[in-house]
Amino acid sequence: MITETTTDVRRLPIVVGGSERDSDATETMPVTAPRTGEVIAEVPLCTSDELDMAVNEAKKAQSAWADIPIKDRVQVFYKLKALIERDVDMLAEIITLENGKTDPESRGSILRGIECVEYATALPMTAIGEVLEVSRGVECKTVRSPLGVVAGITPFNFPFMVPLWMIPMSIALGNAFVLKPSPQTPLSGMELARLLKEAGLPDGIFSVVHGDRGIVEAICDHPDIGAIGFVGSTRVARAVYERGTAAGKRVRAMGGAKNHLVVVPDADVEMTASNVVASVTGCAGQRCMAASVLVTVGDCDHIVARIREKMAALKAGTDIGAIISDQAYERITGYLDRAGSNGARLTLDGRDAIAEDAPKGGKYLGASIIDHASPDHEASCDEIFGPTLTIIRCDTLEEAIRIENQNPYGNAAAIYTQSGATAEFFSDKASAGMIGVNIGVPVPREPFAFGGWNESSFGEGDITGPSAIDFWTKTKKITSKWSDKYRSNWMS
Ligand code: NAD
Repeated sequence: MITETTTDVRRLPIVVGGSERDSDATETMPVTAPRTGEVIAEVPLCTSDELDMAVNEAKKAQSAWADIPIKDRVQVFYKLKALIERDVDMLAEIITLENGKTDPESRGSILRGIECVEYATALPMTAIGEVLEVSRGVECKTVRSPLGVVAGITPFNFPFMVPLWMIPMSIALGNAFVLKPSPQTPLSGMELARLLKEAGLPDGIFSVVHGDRGIVEAICDHPDIGAIGFVGSTRVARAVYERGTAAGKRVRAMGGAKNHLVVVPDADVEMTASNVVASVTGCAGQRCMAASVLVTVGDCDHIVARIREKMAALKAGTDIGAIISDQAYERITGYLDRAGSNGARLTLDGRDAIAEDAPKGGKYLGASIIDHASPDHEASCDEIFGPTLTIIRCDTLEEAIRIENQNPYGNAAAIYTQSGATAEFFSDKASAGMIGVNIGVPVPREPFAFGGWNESSFGEGDITGPSAIDFWTKTKKITSKWSDKYRSNWMS
């Protein structure tokens, strides 16, 4: 296993036809452990020939896999769940190594991934077809067919969980899956390949290719890939959606976010403060569900004061994990440097909150607050993707909702209140796919679906839950008649 003290930097293989093999790529990118800054692996920037090879092997294996009854196919995922549970300590270590999350965060992401595996094991109960006698003796039946070879392109921030949003569902539904993990966090995907093989998945049904923009474009253009699941920033989600759909594929692309949390004066102070702080600082703010903007309605000074107090008590390097890269650190601190424009103030600076025992060499940032920001301040508009909270003050709930509605993203939004009527009004009017009531990370858990709106999402439906059944399959409608004892009608 690669560790933070690994001295022999390993060039990662690709997984094709069920086996690891060296990549022919001439270019590589370093994989850096965010906690220490150590280079822990080299990731090859695969060529389109290597993608062809993976897709060809996947095609060869897929039709036999699709012929296996779904009740048998899902057995692999019962075993996968047991194997993930067996290896949970090692997997959490790998996630922390490559991503910089704290150990509890890494473990939490594995548990959430397991729920997606469990949901796929239920497919024999949830993905059944339909049948109806539409005329005397004439029956219509709908059955689901897999698409063939499909692909998943994933971001750095949940290297184990996000692939599991797609892999169990698409494969259990009879497809072969090619994963292109983030080049910043490619190790978890390699572990998934190992575990799926041990769980008994036939060779070729799961493959891994590596790289960045070049290989993503090759996936979008590949004539034998039927669908793409993408998760990442809005800029790339839009590009992948446009290029993939232009090439005739289904594309479900999840983009970035700017989640607004609205607090009204009747909110429970302790519950709200703890919840907002967890949402802002969890995973060092590097999650698409992180609280990014707090909109206060009326006099909420007592709640803001408690939030600030709790955020100021956190230390980066122990309570808050590492920032993924130097580049990300520069981006986030740039917003802190420029915070004091248009009347806004940096009232808490996370650069002052690094734990003494934080691992050396990594990039760490404590929690920051940019208060009294106007709705058009850059910190109110951009996805900062770090442990930073922007606070906008306003007078009415209607104004708060207008501010939320005007932001182009629509992943999540939350309201903090003790009033059911206020919560209902906000839930109805907020323009986001996932709404929290006194919950700042309103992740719907299986069997509910995960998915945003607006510029947080391109393509129909959600990435998990029931929409995923539709996304990874096409339906075949079979109309049949077996007896001539009924008189003929207009259709037979
Ligand atoms: P990213 O968009 O930089 O990368 C995502 C994937 O796209 C990676 O596999 C990467 O190799 C590839 N890629 C990067 N640049 C590309 C380009 N120019 N052309 C084609 N492919 C390219 O995202 P990231 O920094 O890895 O992850 C963070 C982003 O992901 C944030 O914006 C976050 O909000 C978003 N995210 C969204 C969700 C969601 O469900 N909506 C979930 C997790 C993360």
